[in-house]
Amino acid sequence: MEKADVIVIGSGQGGVPLAVNLAREGKQAILFERRSLGGSCLNYGCYPSKAFLAAAHDAGVRRRAAGFGVDMRTEVNFQRLMEHVRSKIDSSYIKKALAKAGVRTIMAEASFTGERTVAGGGQEFHADTVVINTGNGPWLPPIPGLDNTPYLTYINFWEINKLPPRILIIGGGYIGVELGQGLAELGAQVHIIEKSDRIVAGEEPDLSEVLTKALAGSGVVFHLGRQAKQVSHDGNVFKLTLDNDEILEGEALLVVAGQQANTAALDCAASGVELTERGFVKVGDRLESSCPGVYAIGDVTGQPAFTHVSWEDFRRLMSILKGGGRRQMDRVLGYAFYTEPEAGRCGLTVEQARKQGLNARAVTLPLKRVARAWLSDRTNGFYRLVVENGSDRILGATLVGPRASDLVHVVIDLMEAGATWRDLEKSVHIHPAFAEGLPTLARLLQS
Ligand SMILES: Cc1cc2nc3c(=O)[nH]c(=O)nc-3n(C[C@H](O)[C@H](O)[C@H](O)COP(=O)(O)OP(=O)(O)OC[C@H]3O[C@@H](n4cnc5c(N)ncnc54)[C@H](O)[C@@H]3O)c2cc1C
Repeated sequence: MEKADVIVIGSGQGGVPLAVNLAREGKQAILFERRSLGGSCLNYGCYPSKAFLAAAHDAGVRRRAAGFGVDMRTEVNFQRLMEHVRSKIDSSYIKKALAKAGVRTIMAEASFTGERTVAGGGQEFHADTVVINTGNGPWLPPIPGLDNTPYLTYINFWEINKLPPRILIIGGGYIGVELGQGLAELGAQVHIIEKSDRIVAGEEPDLSEVLTKALAGSGVVFHLGRQAKQVSHDGNVFKLTLDNDEILEGEALLVVAGQQANTAALDCAASGVELTERGFVKVGDRLESSCPGVYAIGDVTGQPAFTHVSWEDFRRLMSILKGGGRRQMDRVLGYAFYTEPEAGRCGLTVEQARKQGLNARAVTLPLKRVARAWLSDRTNGFYRLVVENGSDRILGATLVGPRASDLVHVVIDLMEAGATWRDLEKSVHIHPAFAEGLPTLARLLQS
């Protein structure tokens, strides 16, 4: 067994910069990766999905332009489109950065063999600091027959080269909704099967409504409140039987019904690292597990599964390892859905705020009252601000509309700066930008 200063398991969004930065500081850093350097964001998450959606939404815009009297014929070369998407997946810069910093990278699955002792690829190391950054993987619902079919998950979806004429998607969470709309915009007939009575069910109901309307406009067919009870594949076509005995057929089946922590292979118990009931690594506010010296960052801790969360965990942990004061929840959380229209969220919803005992209220501005949205005929959406009565603090926002993934940063920054809605109300935003609606939204609080 060799001795190292730090062992990082998983080359996710936080693990790579952590290993690189510690190595640059002279620490002997070991990094284990069992699949592809760069983790899910680069290889099968954000990068391919957002490259795919950029192309798909372009096709969607062209189709919609007919409504303005601009009739553009759209022909989709799906193979070329997917080659373009795959061209964005390139981990060579990560390999170089790791090598340059002197990180010893081992391309193998790692597991604990003792307290702060990790083995993989025939090598075993002990270190005072071990960081688990193993992320999430697709969760597969126990549907009879599924195992015997060539179903897709978000991992192998990026390998297809032919647009399936009909695609069945199990799961109406944000991945199913983004990919479902993209596929429909490219010309596939898309069915989304969702067990809740609405898509993106963890979000506010009117956000689900806006996206349902938008996706239906792109041609997506919904089966809400439904579960798949049987799947079969005859060599060409999938047959999916729903719990109301309706049978759906498609040339492809994409299962995006949820995610589970990548902890099964780790043998966390060997190091005394406790897991939650759902298999996530239990960490305290300083990202340390139940085993002193073993930390976990990113999706594997069960916190909101986003790249920027894992990446910020790297900076948090760098500070924590040096005795600094960073904490797991010390930043405003923002995230976005890259549908058309987009949804940008940050902080608390009014319901979440009230549950926390805060005296909160919310105001909502329909997008039809934002000049730019009305002029562009893109009024399906709204802006919502949540504030605390008395202190006037901004507690959160939900923006649904064009470019909402960018607009929401106005609110994130105001929240980080400790600003109130009165600061936003005072701002004079440019006419007729979509952002013009944000001070208008804040002004609703004056009445
Ligand atoms: C389709 C899709 C779209 C997404 N879009 C967005 C988006 O637009 N914006 C956003 O912020 N987030 C998005 N995400 C989520 C984002 O990809 C993740 O939240 C982010 O990558 C989290 O990274 P991580 O550091 O926790 O782990 P990961 O990036 O998942 O990395 C974990 C790594 O650990 C490796 N590993 C696992 N077990 C072991 C082991 N035992 N030994 C060695 N290696 C191991 C894995 O192979 C993997 O490479 C998307 C995800 C998906 C699937």
